[in-house]
Amino acid sequence: MRIGGAGKLFGTDGVRGIANDEITVEMATNLGRVIATLRDGTLAVGMDARLSSPMLKSAVIAGITSAGCDVVDLGLLPTPALQYYVKCNKDIAGGVVVTASHNPREYNGIKFIQSDGREFTRSMDEESERMYMSKSYRIVSWDKVGKVYREDCRRMYIQGILDKVNLDLISEKKFKVVLDCGNGAGCVTSPELLRKLGCRCVSINAHPDGTFPCRNPEPVKENVEFLMKCVKNVGADLGVAHDGDADRATFVDERGEFVGEDVMLALMAKYYVEKNGGGIVVTPVSSSKCVEDVVREAGGEVVYTAVGSPVVAETMLKLKAVFGGEGNGGLVFPEHLLARDGAMSIAKVLELLAEEGKKLSELVADIPKYVTLKAKVLCRDKIKLLEGLKQTFPDADFTDGAKVEYEDGWILIRPSGTEPIARIMAESKSEKRAKELLEMGMEVVKKILSE
Ligand code: MG
Repeated sequence: MRIGGAGKLFGTDGVRGIANDEITVEMATNLGRVIATLRDGTLAVGMDARLSSPMLKSAVIAGITSAGCDVVDLGLLPTPALQYYVKCNKDIAGGVVVTASHNPREYNGIKFIQSDGREFTRSMDEESERMYMSKSYRIVSWDKVGKVYREDCRRMYIQGILDKVNLDLISEKKFKVVLDCGNGAGCVTSPELLRKLGCRCVSINAHPDGTFPCRNPEPVKENVEFLMKCVKNVGADLGVAHDGDADRATFVDERGEFVGEDVMLALMAKYYVEKNGGGIVVTPVSSSKCVEDVVREAGGEVVYTAVGSPVVAETMLKLKAVFGGEGNGGLVFPEHLLARDGAMSIAKVLELLAEEGKKLSELVADIPKYVTLKAKVLCRDKIKLLEGLKQTFPDADFTDGAKVEYEDGWILIRPSGTEPIARIMAESKSEKRAKELLEMGMEVVKKILSE
């Protein structure tokens, strides 16, 4: 099995793979039985807009009910909408989302949610995997099979976001926003959210369509060029793009320029630290130094974690962080939900624009500029790589792979959790230095693996 790499079922983001090949109906049914056995209460189930999602959602529901638990079927919705529903309903023991997030159209996946709305932690995923592999999940007799209810939580989710922003101030500004849901799950909530925020919303790729006819679901710069053009052409204040399950949002400024995900993370982190008069911001070791720079200047502190949103959320909870997020457009607002939330990101960015009374490009100009470069090297022996890194860089930070700090930059070398590669990142204010660091990192990896 390729999912998660190294024969493991659960990767950094639940179970992922090609639908009907790696992620089968049988697997989905048994995973439904696993979470029902572990959580033993009513479970919420939802899905993204992929072609295989109704099939896999039905299979998950079959599994859960066959293990004797009831299901609230929430249908098509963003992942954070389900997480918010689970968090707010004390009688719901957990949830399952059928989604492959930003992956290409042939993929699908299954993600487990805790009763407080957070994703399962790594150790919970491992426990689930052990139960799945040993088939020790429960199957009940005919008279104990669970029931299925239907509910629509989309309005409740939208209201939950509206309650946490300065609605009057945002509405007053009558922002014009171009929204690109990428034909994903955000189509069913984000247009309405923008309308309720008093914005004039121009939507593109706004019908749910699992063939993803217009763009790849990952909202990175190269996939949202049409959005960038639209923002410029209609004279909008802001452009927003979601990934397939709308837990992420990326932004385009009023000039039609894509704003780097790390820059947006820094901007929001600064906003939260200033509002709270200090506090902790949690982000993975792979995030740009610009986040730490602005958080420090605002009187806050950055705490770094390994890569992956569950560990960010877990650390935020432990440290009572004021804000957190990843450098991929996944922002976490703890007063709302300890998970990435794309719609909440839109509302908070609009609140920031309204409060500051500045254009997004002006706010972005205040964030320190870094050059961040990435490379991959084939790596089939992760243990050898990690041991070699410990010998080469004994003083490095080993939170996730090895992060080596220099006066004028840093490099991060870490084995991928899902593919047989080593990822290398280098960052510096100077492009020349960033290139030097990246090349040095690649050389080190090659040398360790060839020894
Ligand atoms: Mg996602």
